[in-house]
Parts: sequence; C-alpha cells; structure tokens
Amino acid sequence: MLDAAIAAHEDAATATSALLRRDGADAGASLPLPHLYARVSRHITPAEWPLYAREVEAIERLKRERNAVILGHNYQAPEIFNTVADIVGDSLALAREAVTVEADVIVMAGVHFMAETAKLLNPSKTVLMPDMGAGCSLADSITAADIRLLRQHYPGVPVVTYVNTSAEVKAESDYCCTSGNAVKVVRHVAKEWGVNRILMLPDEYLARNVQKQVPEIELIAWKGHCEVHERFTPQDIRDLRENHPGVVVLAHPECPPEVVAEADYAGSTADMANYVDREKPRRVVLITECSMADNVAVGHPDIEFVRPCNLCPHMRRITLPNIRRALETMQGAVEIDPALAERARAAVERMIAIR
Ligand code: SF4
Repeated sequence: MLDAAIAAHEDAATATSALLRRDGADAGASLPLPHLYARVSRHITPAEWPLYAREVEAIERLKRERNAVILGHNYQAPEIFNTVADIVGDSLALAREAVTVEADVIVMAGVHFMAETAKLLNPSKTVLMPDMGAGCSLADSITAADIRLLRQHYPGVPVVTYVNTSAEVKAESDYCCTSGNAVKVVRHVAKEWGVNRILMLPDEYLARNVQKQVPEIELIAWKGHCEVHERFTPQDIRDLRENHPGVVVLAHPECPPEVVAEADYAGSTADMANYVDREKPRRVVLITECSMADNVAVGHPDIEFVRPCNLCPHMRRITLPNIRRALETMQGAVEIDPALAERARAAVERMIAIR
C-alpha cells in the first residue's frame, strides 16, 4: 500500500517536473489564459498559474461590471502589471493617464500617494486602494507642518515637492515634480519666479542628483529617502560590473549620488524603459525596485537583465486577491477634503502644464 502511494507520488512529481521543464509558452498552451501566462511564466509555475488565472478572470469580470480600470505602477508585481493592469507606467504617466480615463472607478495598483494623485485629478471618480497600508518612506518623511515651518525659515523661496508625498503636503507646495521631469520643473520655477533658490522636497538624493544638472540654482533639500533606492551602494555597482562584464548600468535618481556617479545612465523608470527600448543593450541592470526589470524584460526576451533584488514592501502589499476584494466590496475609496484637494491639485496641474 505504502509502496503504491510512493510510486503514485513519484509519478506525479515526475509529471510536474516535466511540465516545469517545458518553456513557459509551451507549458502555457494547455493552461487557462495562455496569452497572459506567456508574460509571467518566468515568475509563476504552471502548477500555480490556474490559481492566479482564477483571480485574473474574476477581476476582469468585476472591471466590466463596475466600469473600472486598473492603473499599475512600474514597480508592481509581474502578475498584476502584466495581467489585469490597463494602464501602466511611472507616477507621471499614471497621473497624466488618470485624467483621460473614462471609467467610473479607478483601482490603484501602486501606493497611497499615487491613489491620492489619481483622486485629485479625477474628483468625481471613485478611486480604490486595495490596501490602505501601502505607503512610502518618502511620503512619510515630511508633513504639511514641516513645509509651513520651512516657508517661515525661507520666506519667498518656492517649494517644489516630489509627487511621492501626501495630498496635504502637495497642498502646501507651489509645484510638484517627478523624477522624470524634476530638472525641467526647477528650471521653469526659477525662471517664472525670478529666483535662484528652490526648496526641493522631500527626497534628498533626487535633489542632490538634480542639483548637478542645475548648478545655477541652489536646491535646498530635505532628509527624506526611498527605503529601496538608498540601499544601493557604489560598491554594489562595481561588483555588478566585475561579475557581469559588459553590463550597462541604469540608475534611478532616488539612489545616492555616489551610486548614480557609477552608472552609465540615470533616469526615471520611464527613462530607463525607453533607454532599453532605444539602445537594446546586450546585458543591462536597472538600479531600482526589482519588479521593474521583471516587467521591462517581458518585452525584451533577447536582452539579459541582471537582477539584484531590492523590493518595495509597500508595493508588495497590493495583490490580485485584494484588488478583487476592492472591486467586489468597493471598500478602500480614497477621500480628500475638497478645499485641500483644490490646493494640492493646483500643484500637480502646474507640473503637468509644463511640457
Ligand atoms: S520604491 Fe521607494 S519611493 Fe517608491 S513607493 Fe516604495 S518606498 Fe516609496
């Protein structure tokens, strides 16, 4: 009896490992939603996929019923980014696309400040956060009261805040910026205000990296850091180059300037994705949140992505089951006081208006 059970178990294990050995596309042909499985087969085994596919099908049905769209940040897990997300991109792209969305409901597969930004730009729509605890170390590093104090200390100095901030902080700001447009925004503000000093908050490293490109303007920084990007060191980059000869290093400007100095190119997540599209390096490493490489790699099977992994724990709080639950229950709607929203929206819209 025991022998038979062991033999049956071994047969099943052999069949499973044979299935796992087949490449993703092949194995996926006999699975549900094979076109989607082909996009995530690097991360999800054929044995696991039917469970994911069940969630994906339920979410797609709920999206139709609720007239909902899902915005997926570049750092979102591959099983969300490549399956149920309707619009993907960096925070600037999501902010812009949120304006054009015609759905009644927006689900943010990102972190809380992104959902607030979507709500600011779409006040009549329901914006759902699948997990209200999905925060951000940068957004948590500064409060509206901090900005009011800074304004007292630096009277007449304009305030530019990174979009990775709460709506309350945006409401105290003159302009927002993203890592993709920060240089353009500070140049614009300096010219428009006729000043050569700007408070650039709260990401110290972004401010210091931008400072190198605008030596004519003094950027006053804050001590906020992204807990993902601050972990990279210059030695990490040197080790990557030694262990992966010829690798092209692309770094996010939330990394310390000493790390950016070791890179071949620095840019926002959108800039990095565009660089890969344009230059098609043979071997590349993206010095940023590690899901980004997983998501960009889907469209570039011929490029070798070296993948050191620093995950954002806040992004990881968003899952297929909690997206499904948000759409089922319509719980987790983001609300912002209308008077505060108006001031915060103005800072975001001033940024978007700079082309
Ligand atoms: S990666 Fe960094 S900046 Fe982005 S959400 Fe996570 S903690 Fe915030």
